[in-house]
Amino acid sequence: MNSYYAPLSQIQNGFIELREQEAKHASKVMRASEGDKLSVVDGRGGRYSGPITRITKNTIQLEIEEQKREEVPKPSLVLGMGIIKKRDRLEFAVEKAVELGARDIGLFRSEHTIKENVRVDRLEAIAISAMKQSLRCWLPEISFYQGWQEMVDRHPEAQCLVAHEKIDKEPFQPQDYKKKDKPILLMVGPEGGFSSDEISQFKEKGARLVSLGSYRLRAETAAVAFLSQFLS
Ligand code: SAH
Repeated sequence: MNSYYAPLSQIQNGFIELREQEAKHASKVMRASEGDKLSVVDGRGGRYSGPITRITKNTIQLEIEEQKREEVPKPSLVLGMGIIKKRDRLEFAVEKAVELGARDIGLFRSEHTIKENVRVDRLEAIAISAMKQSLRCWLPEISFYQGWQEMVDRHPEAQCLVAHEKIDKEPFQPQDYKKKDKPILLMVGPEGGFSSDEISQFKEKGARLVSLGSYRLRAETAAVAFLSQFLS
């Protein structure tokens, strides 16, 4: 079943208004008409369904018949990724992170960052589409940080795990982190990796270094492999 997205600002007094791409998709691609029932998520844990009551050129209005709320999935996973140069690879990482249940995504600059600017609008659209695709109803927020330090400091309560390819493969039990009722911050470096100085800084901040196997993975693959260990 298809679901559509409407932020809370478009949900009022028992009605939902779909706009822009969401409205276009429903009317032009899915050929929905008045009376048809649609499912909508608000990205904040709400699921709704109800019939279309009005279709205009750019909007679709539906009346809420059923409504449910879902708690934020546990464990609360926050992915931090170094900005990578190739746009499609970064977009892939964001799409997969949403599908795999990241609660929030931070993109940061670090010593080995090559490219600094990203297309936020595209990443947000990708995140919305991945949320709907995976039938989720929580939309991760995508944030930008001047440095990973700022991202770690923004999550003082989180258990910080850093994917690092240059450490011996020590036993790492995702379960140990999942069972604590604290967010888990997963940090992945950019294509050039973290510098040894950055790794020392992570250690000083009390982060745990994690190996994802004996072989070097691309940053976006590392993000997928890392998040997959916490699937629920
Ligand atoms: N520094 C490397 C490549 C970095 S790979 C080089 O240029 O040779 C990019 C990021 O993916 C790393 O910073 C790390 O966070 C993650 N990564 C890749 N392979 C990994 C592995 N085997 N174990 C843990 N993390 C890995």
